[in-house]
Amino acid sequence: MSEKLDMNATGYKTNCLVCGSDLVYSTNSNKSECYYCKKVYESNVKCAKGHFICDNCHNLPASKLIKQFCINSQSEDPLVTALILMRNPQVKMHGPEHHFLVPAVLLSAYYNLKKDEEKKTEKIEESEKRAKNILGGFCGYYGDCGAAVGTGIFISLITGATPLSKHEWKLSNMMTAKSLFSIANVGGPRCCKRTAFLSIIQAIDFLSENFSIENMNKNVKCEFNSLNKECIRDSCPFYDRRR
Ligand SMILES: [Zn+2]
Ligand SMILES: [Zn+2]
Repeated sequence: MSEKLDMNATGYKTNCLVCGSDLVYSTNSNKSECYYCKKVYESNVKCAKGHFICDNCHNLPASKLIKQFCINSQSEDPLVTALILMRNPQVKMHGPEHHFLVPAVLLSAYYNLKKDEEKKTEKIEESEKRAKNILGGFCGYYGDCGAAVGTGIFISLITGATPLSKHEWKLSNMMTAKSLFSIANVGGPRCCKRTAFLSIIQAIDFLSENFSIENMNKNVKCEFNSLNKECIRDSCPFYDRRR
């Protein structure tokens, strides 16, 4: 984990959107780099740990925030990128923005590992268009959780799969199948955090089995159980009793 957390997820509603720390207001403004878009602004507010978020990023809708942050991030850890985005109030406890968040954090980490900035941007933009077609509530109404489909989009994009491909087609569908199996095994009710984490971890295993990408972090603890009235708590692999 790159950021150490010391407060409950609800603290992000009023404090630093990145780490939950108190905001510190100074009398003089300083040049500060925005945590999300990496642009430099004059500002006199930062969190106690030094995070600054520009007004533009503060007001972005979830899809734009996810796209901007995943394109600019240099992280090779998709679970950490997912957590940082999930802490932002624009990313709701549950919602179809997770269908885009899953492929976006995976594409970001994958192309950071490959050191290919151009492809990273291009593929994240394409994943956003594809993820828009996965409606909210798909998990329960169609038997096909959008986070799992997100991992299929990810593999389709990195392999360049089309409906006519052979091996790439197999890999893309296999990826979604593995994510869905893992999601189904835990059971309902839906939780977009749990299914996103499960799908990302399945994708990490899939990258190791099929693309020789080893040693990606698979550890994550949920920070959002207090916001989820249907949380299954001890039955969830990511539940953190201390919260
Ligand atoms: Zn902070
Ligand atoms: Zn910004």
